[in-house]
Amino acid sequence: MRRRLHPLIASILVSLAFTAGFLFSHHRPPEAAERHSFALGTLVHLKLYGPGAEDALDGALDRLNELEDAFSVHRVGSDVARINESAGREPVPVRPETDRVLRLAREVARASGGAFDPTVGPLVSLWGIGTPAARIPGKEEILRTRGLVGWRDLIPPDGTEKGWKLARPGQALDLGGIAKGYAGDDLAERLRRRGILAGLLDLGGNILVFGPHPGGGNWTIGIQDPRKPRGTPLGSVTLEEGTVVTSGVYERFFEQQGVRYHHLLDPATGVPARSGLLSVTVVASSSALADALSTALFVLGPARSRSLLARYPAEVLFVTEDRKILLTPSLRRRFRLTDRSFTLRDLPGEKAP
Ligand code: ADP
Ligand code: MG
Repeated sequence: MRRRLHPLIASILVSLAFTAGFLFSHHRPPEAAERHSFALGTLVHLKLYGPGAEDALDGALDRLNELEDAFSVHRVGSDVARINESAGREPVPVRPETDRVLRLAREVARASGGAFDPTVGPLVSLWGIGTPAARIPGKEEILRTRGLVGWRDLIPPDGTEKGWKLARPGQALDLGGIAKGYAGDDLAERLRRRGILAGLLDLGGNILVFGPHPGGGNWTIGIQDPRKPRGTPLGSVTLEEGTVVTSGVYERFFEQQGVRYHHLLDPATGVPARSGLLSVTVVASSSALADALSTALFVLGPARSRSLLARYPAEVLFVTEDRKILLTPSLRRRFRLTDRSFTLRDLPGEKAP
């Protein structure tokens, strides 16, 4: 029998399951609090369960603001802005969290052969996607700008130098592909430490859940249908704890003469990645890793994803332009398709030979 679910979003599912769990149990529910806000350049939705949940929300939003002070390209004096200003000159001492995120960014850049590259800043500015200045640059400009991108030029502190630096003038960091994931991990850890029992953190579609689901059972996270209005899932993933992060062509883009120019740039070509994909979802335990991987895997596409996936504990789901969903076998067992116009396929050759 064909079964159809009405479109639902993760937060609705969570609320329903929570209420149901409460009705059928004899315990009082833990204190719960929920907030919608804007941080790290995106919509944020936090839902927390446990003692002091309301105060913990304030703390979490303050923390997001601090992280933005470290990671934002646009905030004057942020670690990233200072490294960018200092490109080609002296190293810049940074906060411990910036150091951590830059190390992970560099590692995923290396592992992905530069498909994920935190020095993509000059290309991001050139295209301006998601800003009023968005435009299609000329071939020359693209070539010249592409030459400024290169993660090997992001130089970590060594014995003599106490900070991070970019080797050449004009180079620039952009942590848009990893910062939200890092922020999710950071918040979850802090919230746990202050006694929050469970929570759902949605940072612009980067979802992280921790602690036992208040309604009992697993958490269910909807996966956005890349062709439908926001909040319309094509299916859902269940998980005990962990993160579900999606990179898709629908987040930020403009269209010209029927072509969509989106914000996931291929550092090798200097143009929006064309790998036949509409979105990539990564399920893992670290949100920072999942975030970087989702961007890398979008650029690489399913055919070139194998060695990266063999290296990290992560599951992936690709949504292709021709309405296929390719996914790693163990994710297939936890994925439920609700939009039957998509066809499910195992991602071939998941494990490295
Ligand atoms: P979002 O949730 O905003 O869609 P993604 O994780 O998909 O975030 O990352 C997209 C952002 O990452 C872009 O807006 C840009 O700032 C940056 N970016 C774009 N292409 C790359 C790339 N190849 N490597 C690293 N970062 C990138
Ligand atoms: Mg990402």
